[in-house]
Amino acid sequence: MDFNLNQEQKLLKDTVRTFVLKEIAPIADNIDKEDTFPEGLFKKMGEMGLLGCTIPTEYRGAGSDYLSSAIIEEELAKVSPSVALSYGAHAILCADNVYRNGTEEQRMKYLPRLCSGEWVGALGLTEPGAGSDAVGIEATAQRDGDEYVINGTKTFITNGPIADLVLLYAKTDKEKKAKGITAFLVETSFDGFSVSKKFEKMGNRGSPTGELVLDNCRVPKESLLGEENRGIAVMMSGLDSERAILSAWGVGIAQGAFDLALSYSRERVQFGQPICNFQLIQEKLANAYTQIESSRLMTYKAALLTQESERGGKGTELHKVAAAALLLAGETARNVALDAVQIHGGYGYINELPVERFLRDAVLVTIGAGTSEIRQIVIARELLGE
Ligand SMILES: Cc1cc2nc3c(=O)[nH]c(=O)nc-3n(C[C@H](O)[C@H](O)[C@H](O)COP(=O)(O)OP(=O)(O)OC[C@H]3O[C@@H](n4cnc5c(N)ncnc54)[C@H](O)[C@@H]3O)c2cc1C
Repeated sequence: MDFNLNQEQKLLKDTVRTFVLKEIAPIADNIDKEDTFPEGLFKKMGEMGLLGCTIPTEYRGAGSDYLSSAIIEEELAKVSPSVALSYGAHAILCADNVYRNGTEEQRMKYLPRLCSGEWVGALGLTEPGAGSDAVGIEATAQRDGDEYVINGTKTFITNGPIADLVLLYAKTDKEKKAKGITAFLVETSFDGFSVSKKFEKMGNRGSPTGELVLDNCRVPKESLLGEENRGIAVMMSGLDSERAILSAWGVGIAQGAFDLALSYSRERVQFGQPICNFQLIQEKLANAYTQIESSRLMTYKAALLTQESERGGKGTELHKVAAAALLLAGETARNVALDAVQIHGGYGYINELPVERFLRDAVLVTIGAGTSEIRQIVIARELLGE
């Protein structure tokens, strides 16, 4: 067992860090204040090979692995959790899923555009009436000759308002629950597709979240991702990698907030000395370090197990580890960001410093990709062998 990143991974980490400090750090506060995804940023990330990290080179990806994607996610989140969220939705929830489940034709058609950043990807599962109970979705897709006609509403979709391609789930057999779901690749230029709303959010502002309406949206039968009524297999195939990468998002948020708190505690003088001299502040710093370090180790384990299972290795432990990694990352991000605000005192509560942004962003890590409660249910089921 080696706890160190290899040379390639270290180089990737440094390269992304340099890019983030140059291109994202100067605008991170504005991304939040103006709630706008920076134009051209995805293209720059595409040029660097970040967007297609896990996609083989024949589709213009970087041909790398999930741990590398986790490294990218963490480095982005340390500075701009919202950019990291959009990256995860694009690169993992959409592109990686297209690679894993797509036909050769679908891969050739979509992956080069997604890897280059020419197209933005999203995943549309959640509906107004179906969140945690994902198999309760009500969107329908009816076969009509060589097409499917999709009707329904998808809500809270990351990148939805700017997406060109949405991996979308609908029911092809309404009577059945899980066994009636099918996955589709819906181009947002198809007739009958529209964005009905862009949500105002507490945090992760700049990563656009939308409501999507499919009103007799006709998609060619070639848009089917996987087999009809086998959408649940597509959904399950992406869950663990999604959780592993989003864990890195939580770790990055926690690390970003911690770095701010550590440096502030050295600078802020009260009672004639820097507040980092006080043991009650040191306790918070030590606990934050411990939580972040544990969370990162578990995230890396989830990323490595995801990679193993993709290569046909043993994946039985993966559901439990990926759910636990995200559970821990969510709680870590929220706890550490809250303590980071506390360490800043009143200045932490005023939105002139970035630390309060990290707290607002951290809350979503316990909600997206299955809430903390759902993660606990998944872990308990695995423990009980259900
Ligand atoms: C900013 C943002 C971005 C998102 N991005 C995407 C995206 O890109 N694609 C997408 O498809 N979805 C996305 N989502 C949706 C997200 O996955 C859901 O919000 C999440 O799964 C929870 O569903 P819900 O909001 O309907 O809450 P509900 O399912 O209604 O849950 C409400 C509460 O009840 C609890 N609860 C529910 N069931 C149980 C149970 N059985 N036992 C115990 N407690 C339970 C939950 O944990 C929660 O605390 C996003 C959400 C947000 C806010």
